[in-house]
Amino acid sequence: MSQQPVVIAVAITGSVPRKKDNPAVPVLPPEQVESTHEAFEAGASLVHIHVRNDDESPGSDPARFAEVQAGVVKHCPGMIVQFSTGGRGREASQRGAMLHLKPDMASLATGSVNFPTNIYENPPDFIDGLAKSMLELDIKPECEIFDLAMLYNAASLVKRGLLKAPPHVQFVMGIPGAMPARRSILEFLLSELREVLPGATWTAAGIARHQFEVAQWALELGGHCRTGLEDNIRFDGTRLARSNAELVAKVAEECGRRGRPVATPAQARALLGLRAA
Ligand code: ZN
Repeated sequence: MSQQPVVIAVAITGSVPRKKDNPAVPVLPPEQVESTHEAFEAGASLVHIHVRNDDESPGSDPARFAEVQAGVVKHCPGMIVQFSTGGRGREASQRGAMLHLKPDMASLATGSVNFPTNIYENPPDFIDGLAKSMLELDIKPECEIFDLAMLYNAASLVKRGLLKAPPHVQFVMGIPGAMPARRSILEFLLSELREVLPGATWTAAGIARHQFEVAQWALELGGHCRTGLEDNIRFDGTRLARSNAELVAKVAEECGRRGRPVATPAQARALLGLRAA
């Protein structure tokens, strides 16, 4: 059993409308910084950030990203800042518009996939363009694997010099229309990962009711974990989560139960090959 420290990532906001689904989702920068700080205290060493517009729709304003980034750097010493370049509610041209702020990491989906009501569109030249920007700005991508082909697309980026080896990948499981949350699939993905991206670090995100189950598999199989209100606004499939910190604490507790230490920010940075804070 792996004793490697676990990087707990917290996806604090996402694109879900909070008023409808969970009032605890932080959407304004000060709320986002406060929620991140609570999650940091609970054991998160990486924060995945989306921003919103004034009407709380998904946004892309670099000023908002800058505000959250500055707050996290100030209040959560060493925490890894990861910006989302995800598509929902944003034009393609806006998705990398804040990368000049040089977060430690940014998400990079390496293919297209169906989501429940739309296509998450990531054409080859668009992926290459984002990868190239991240390379130039010394931002480490987190390759988002929503479906099988995306793993091999990530390997192709490495081969073509657009992604530094070893990369960090995240398997996203349980979105209807995309990859289901099945342990056998995760085990297959890991055996392929070892072959096509040797030395890669990995994490797994389970969506909605699959969140905690996938985190448990990741802990057992030697990976890192992601939790947070972006992926699951409910604590246990029935009761609404009270906060991001509550979800992080649940994963941290599970780490303890399985004899895996929760990574400090410094350990997380070393594990993911990032510069020290
Ligand atoms: Zn996201």
